Amino acid sequence: MARVNEHYLKLKAGYLFPEIGRRVKAFAAANPSAKVIRLGIGDVTRPLPPAVLSAFHDAVAELGNEKTFMGYGPEQGYDFLIDTVIRKSYGPLGVTLSPAEVFISDGSKCDTANILDIFALENRVAIGDPVYPVYNDTNVMIGRSGPADERGYYAGIVYLPCTEANGFFPAFPEEKVDIVYLCSPNNPTGAVATRGQLKGWVDYALANDAVILFDAAYEAFITEGGYPRSIYEVEGARKCAIEFRSFSKTAGFTGVRCALTVVPEGVTAKTPSGETVPLNRLWNRRQTTKFNGVSYPVQKAAAAVYSDEGWRQTKEIVDYYMGNARVIREGLTSAGLTVYGGVNAPYIWLKTPGGISSWDFFDKLLTECHVVGTPGSGFGPAGEGFFRLSAFGNRENVAEAVERIRKNLK
Ligand SMILES: *Cc1c(COP(=O)(O)O)cnc(C)c1O
Repeated sequence: MARVNEHYLKLKAGYLFPEIGRRVKAFAAANPSAKVIRLGIGDVTRPLPPAVLSAFHDAVAELGNEKTFMGYGPEQGYDFLIDTVIRKSYGPLGVTLSPAEVFISDGSKCDTANILDIFALENRVAIGDPVYPVYNDTNVMIGRSGPADERGYYAGIVYLPCTEANGFFPAFPEEKVDIVYLCSPNNPTGAVATRGQLKGWVDYALANDAVILFDAAYEAFITEGGYPRSIYEVEGARKCAIEFRSFSKTAGFTGVRCALTVVPEGVTAKTPSGETVPLNRLWNRRQTTKFNGVSYPVQKAAAAVYSDEGWRQTKEIVDYYMGNARVIREGLTSAGLTVYGGVNAPYIWLKTPGGISSWDFFDKLLTECHVVGTPGSGFGPAGEGFFRLSAFGNRENVAEAVERIRKNLK
């Protein structure tokens, strides 16, 4: 008889977004005339920049011509895109990468999940709390944890609370860990790590032979100077960090699908007998065996993000979202709320007023303001008492939602 991967059965049913959907649906059915504004989603809303769209179209047309038709491409991605990323995105940061260190993929969600293929199950893994749920759930799926306790903490995984007290940046765990996920700018807290904070973790990793999995999906949203956009801006990171980047939030590719993962040649891990193996070799083997590359038109579209025109247009969209973030942040601050994030990230992380629970605040916003957000407790127990609003909406809706909340809180 075929047997299931029983680790999947340890997962608590995807609870957060279905539960939000259920409550919004029930409210809308009972109040058909209410105009509900959704600031809960982590998805972009602006269309592709014109220069990107045009490159996309041109590449599709090439596929319709026998002379320019393309079949399978390199599993690691086309050189034209890898070279563009290295030159245009990493170059200005003073980071030099070789083409063999960059792997183009169809998303950071899958890469942050698939990277677990190349690590032994015995590794001790640390993740933040609150956290992007993919890091936690994929470790459970692959069999690295025991069952969940009543808080939603899985046995065997080390959780690092990110709280007001520590500026939403994880402190080093008491026990030694082998792998740690860091996400900056952060989803859901909107916090951005300083160079010093990242340097602390790089030093920790070097001292403990640990690997950092650094998720930089929101690097394009850093608006203030001085914050690292890549962990490789920190000395020593090329020996201990794997970095994930995505075109999803940067350039509206959530539906188009393109991302990249950097595995520097110097990042290694040990075999059971103590030999050192470069992780780049294993990831290359994994990708060439289990993945057949991102489609040619998508990679052409992604490369166009870094053309002069493409970048100007992309930047305008990022600025638009960050304008929304400012409207939310300033509006809610002036209404007396304590608000974090929204300066170098498209997420606002607010403290619920009067210490009410995240879900009670959700219900209050929905029923009294007709605004939908995301309860912080859905991202982990340390998110209790917080609430996430996204800046990815349209400006009028964002402004109206903020106005409704302000009036309600007066
Ligand atoms: C949106 C997001 C990503 C990007 O995922 P893709 O699969 O590239 O769309 C990665 N990490 C975090 C934390 C995100 O919020």
